[in-house]
Amino acid sequence: MSRLRKAVGYVLRTQDYSETSKIVKALTREAGLISLLAKGARRPTSPFGAALEPLTLSEFVYYDREGLKTLSQASLLEPHLELKRDYDKLTTALRCARVVHRALEEDHPEERVFRLFEELLEALGRATATGTGTATGTRAEEEGWALYELAFTLQLLARLGWAPQLERCTGCQETPRRAWFSPERGGLICERCRSSAEAPAPASGSSGAGSAIPLDGEAMRGLAMALRLPLRKLSRLRLSAEALAVGERLLEGFLAHHVRSLGARPRPRPRPQPQRCSK
Ligand SMILES: [Zn+2]
Repeated sequence: MSRLRKAVGYVLRTQDYSETSKIVKALTREAGLISLLAKGARRPTSPFGAALEPLTLSEFVYYDREGLKTLSQASLLEPHLELKRDYDKLTTALRCARVVHRALEEDHPEERVFRLFEELLEALGRATATGTGTATGTRAEEEGWALYELAFTLQLLARLGWAPQLERCTGCQETPRRAWFSPERGGLICERCRSSAEAPAPASGSSGAGSAIPLDGEAMRGLAMALRLPLRKLSRLRLSAEALAVGERLLEGFLAHHVRSLGARPRPRPRPQPQRCSK
């Protein structure tokens, strides 16, 4: 039996399905990530207008029949033009949309993820270029936008119960001055725990433990802040290019290890209580 449903959501991406139809992937408040078949959406006289543009917030009315969702109406609520007019903001937001699409399983309501994505688009929309540069197109500016993607991905993982442990060692639970990030352990490992786990420990830290990534104090503090700072306050955080690059490497390893198959829902793992940073 076909049911008529309504949901408000962000268009994450669209793909052509036939000569006249598209599949729309949307992150909705009510139903989580969903795929909608939009018949006629590729026609010049599409009945859906601009409501299916990526990053647009729209209200969808659709028929749900045994998992196949066919779009009946789409009304545009918020086009987020401030993002679409700025190439860097647009590409940052689209990359984050891809992470959401990759991390979520369809048809599981995830209102916290919906809120986080909403927060991201608002923060990006309002943000001026961060980093140390002021001229547009500078390296520092690019790094500023990359910080949004990094923080968003970290916080997305946290909301799915999958946050990397970035303030304490996953072995002894102490706060190290410097440490390695172990994708396998899902967090930091201090020098002592690492040596006892893998004697003899290599001196460089970049090999021996396979994918363990060395972190200095600045990178550790910066990444821990990126994990918990509300996205609207992210412009206050300055992360060096080196720390940012380490963060990207760390997330890459973490995602590859824990969110291996695309669309697979990460399963929450037992974690110690959230840590408070004692400065
Ligand atoms: Zn330790």
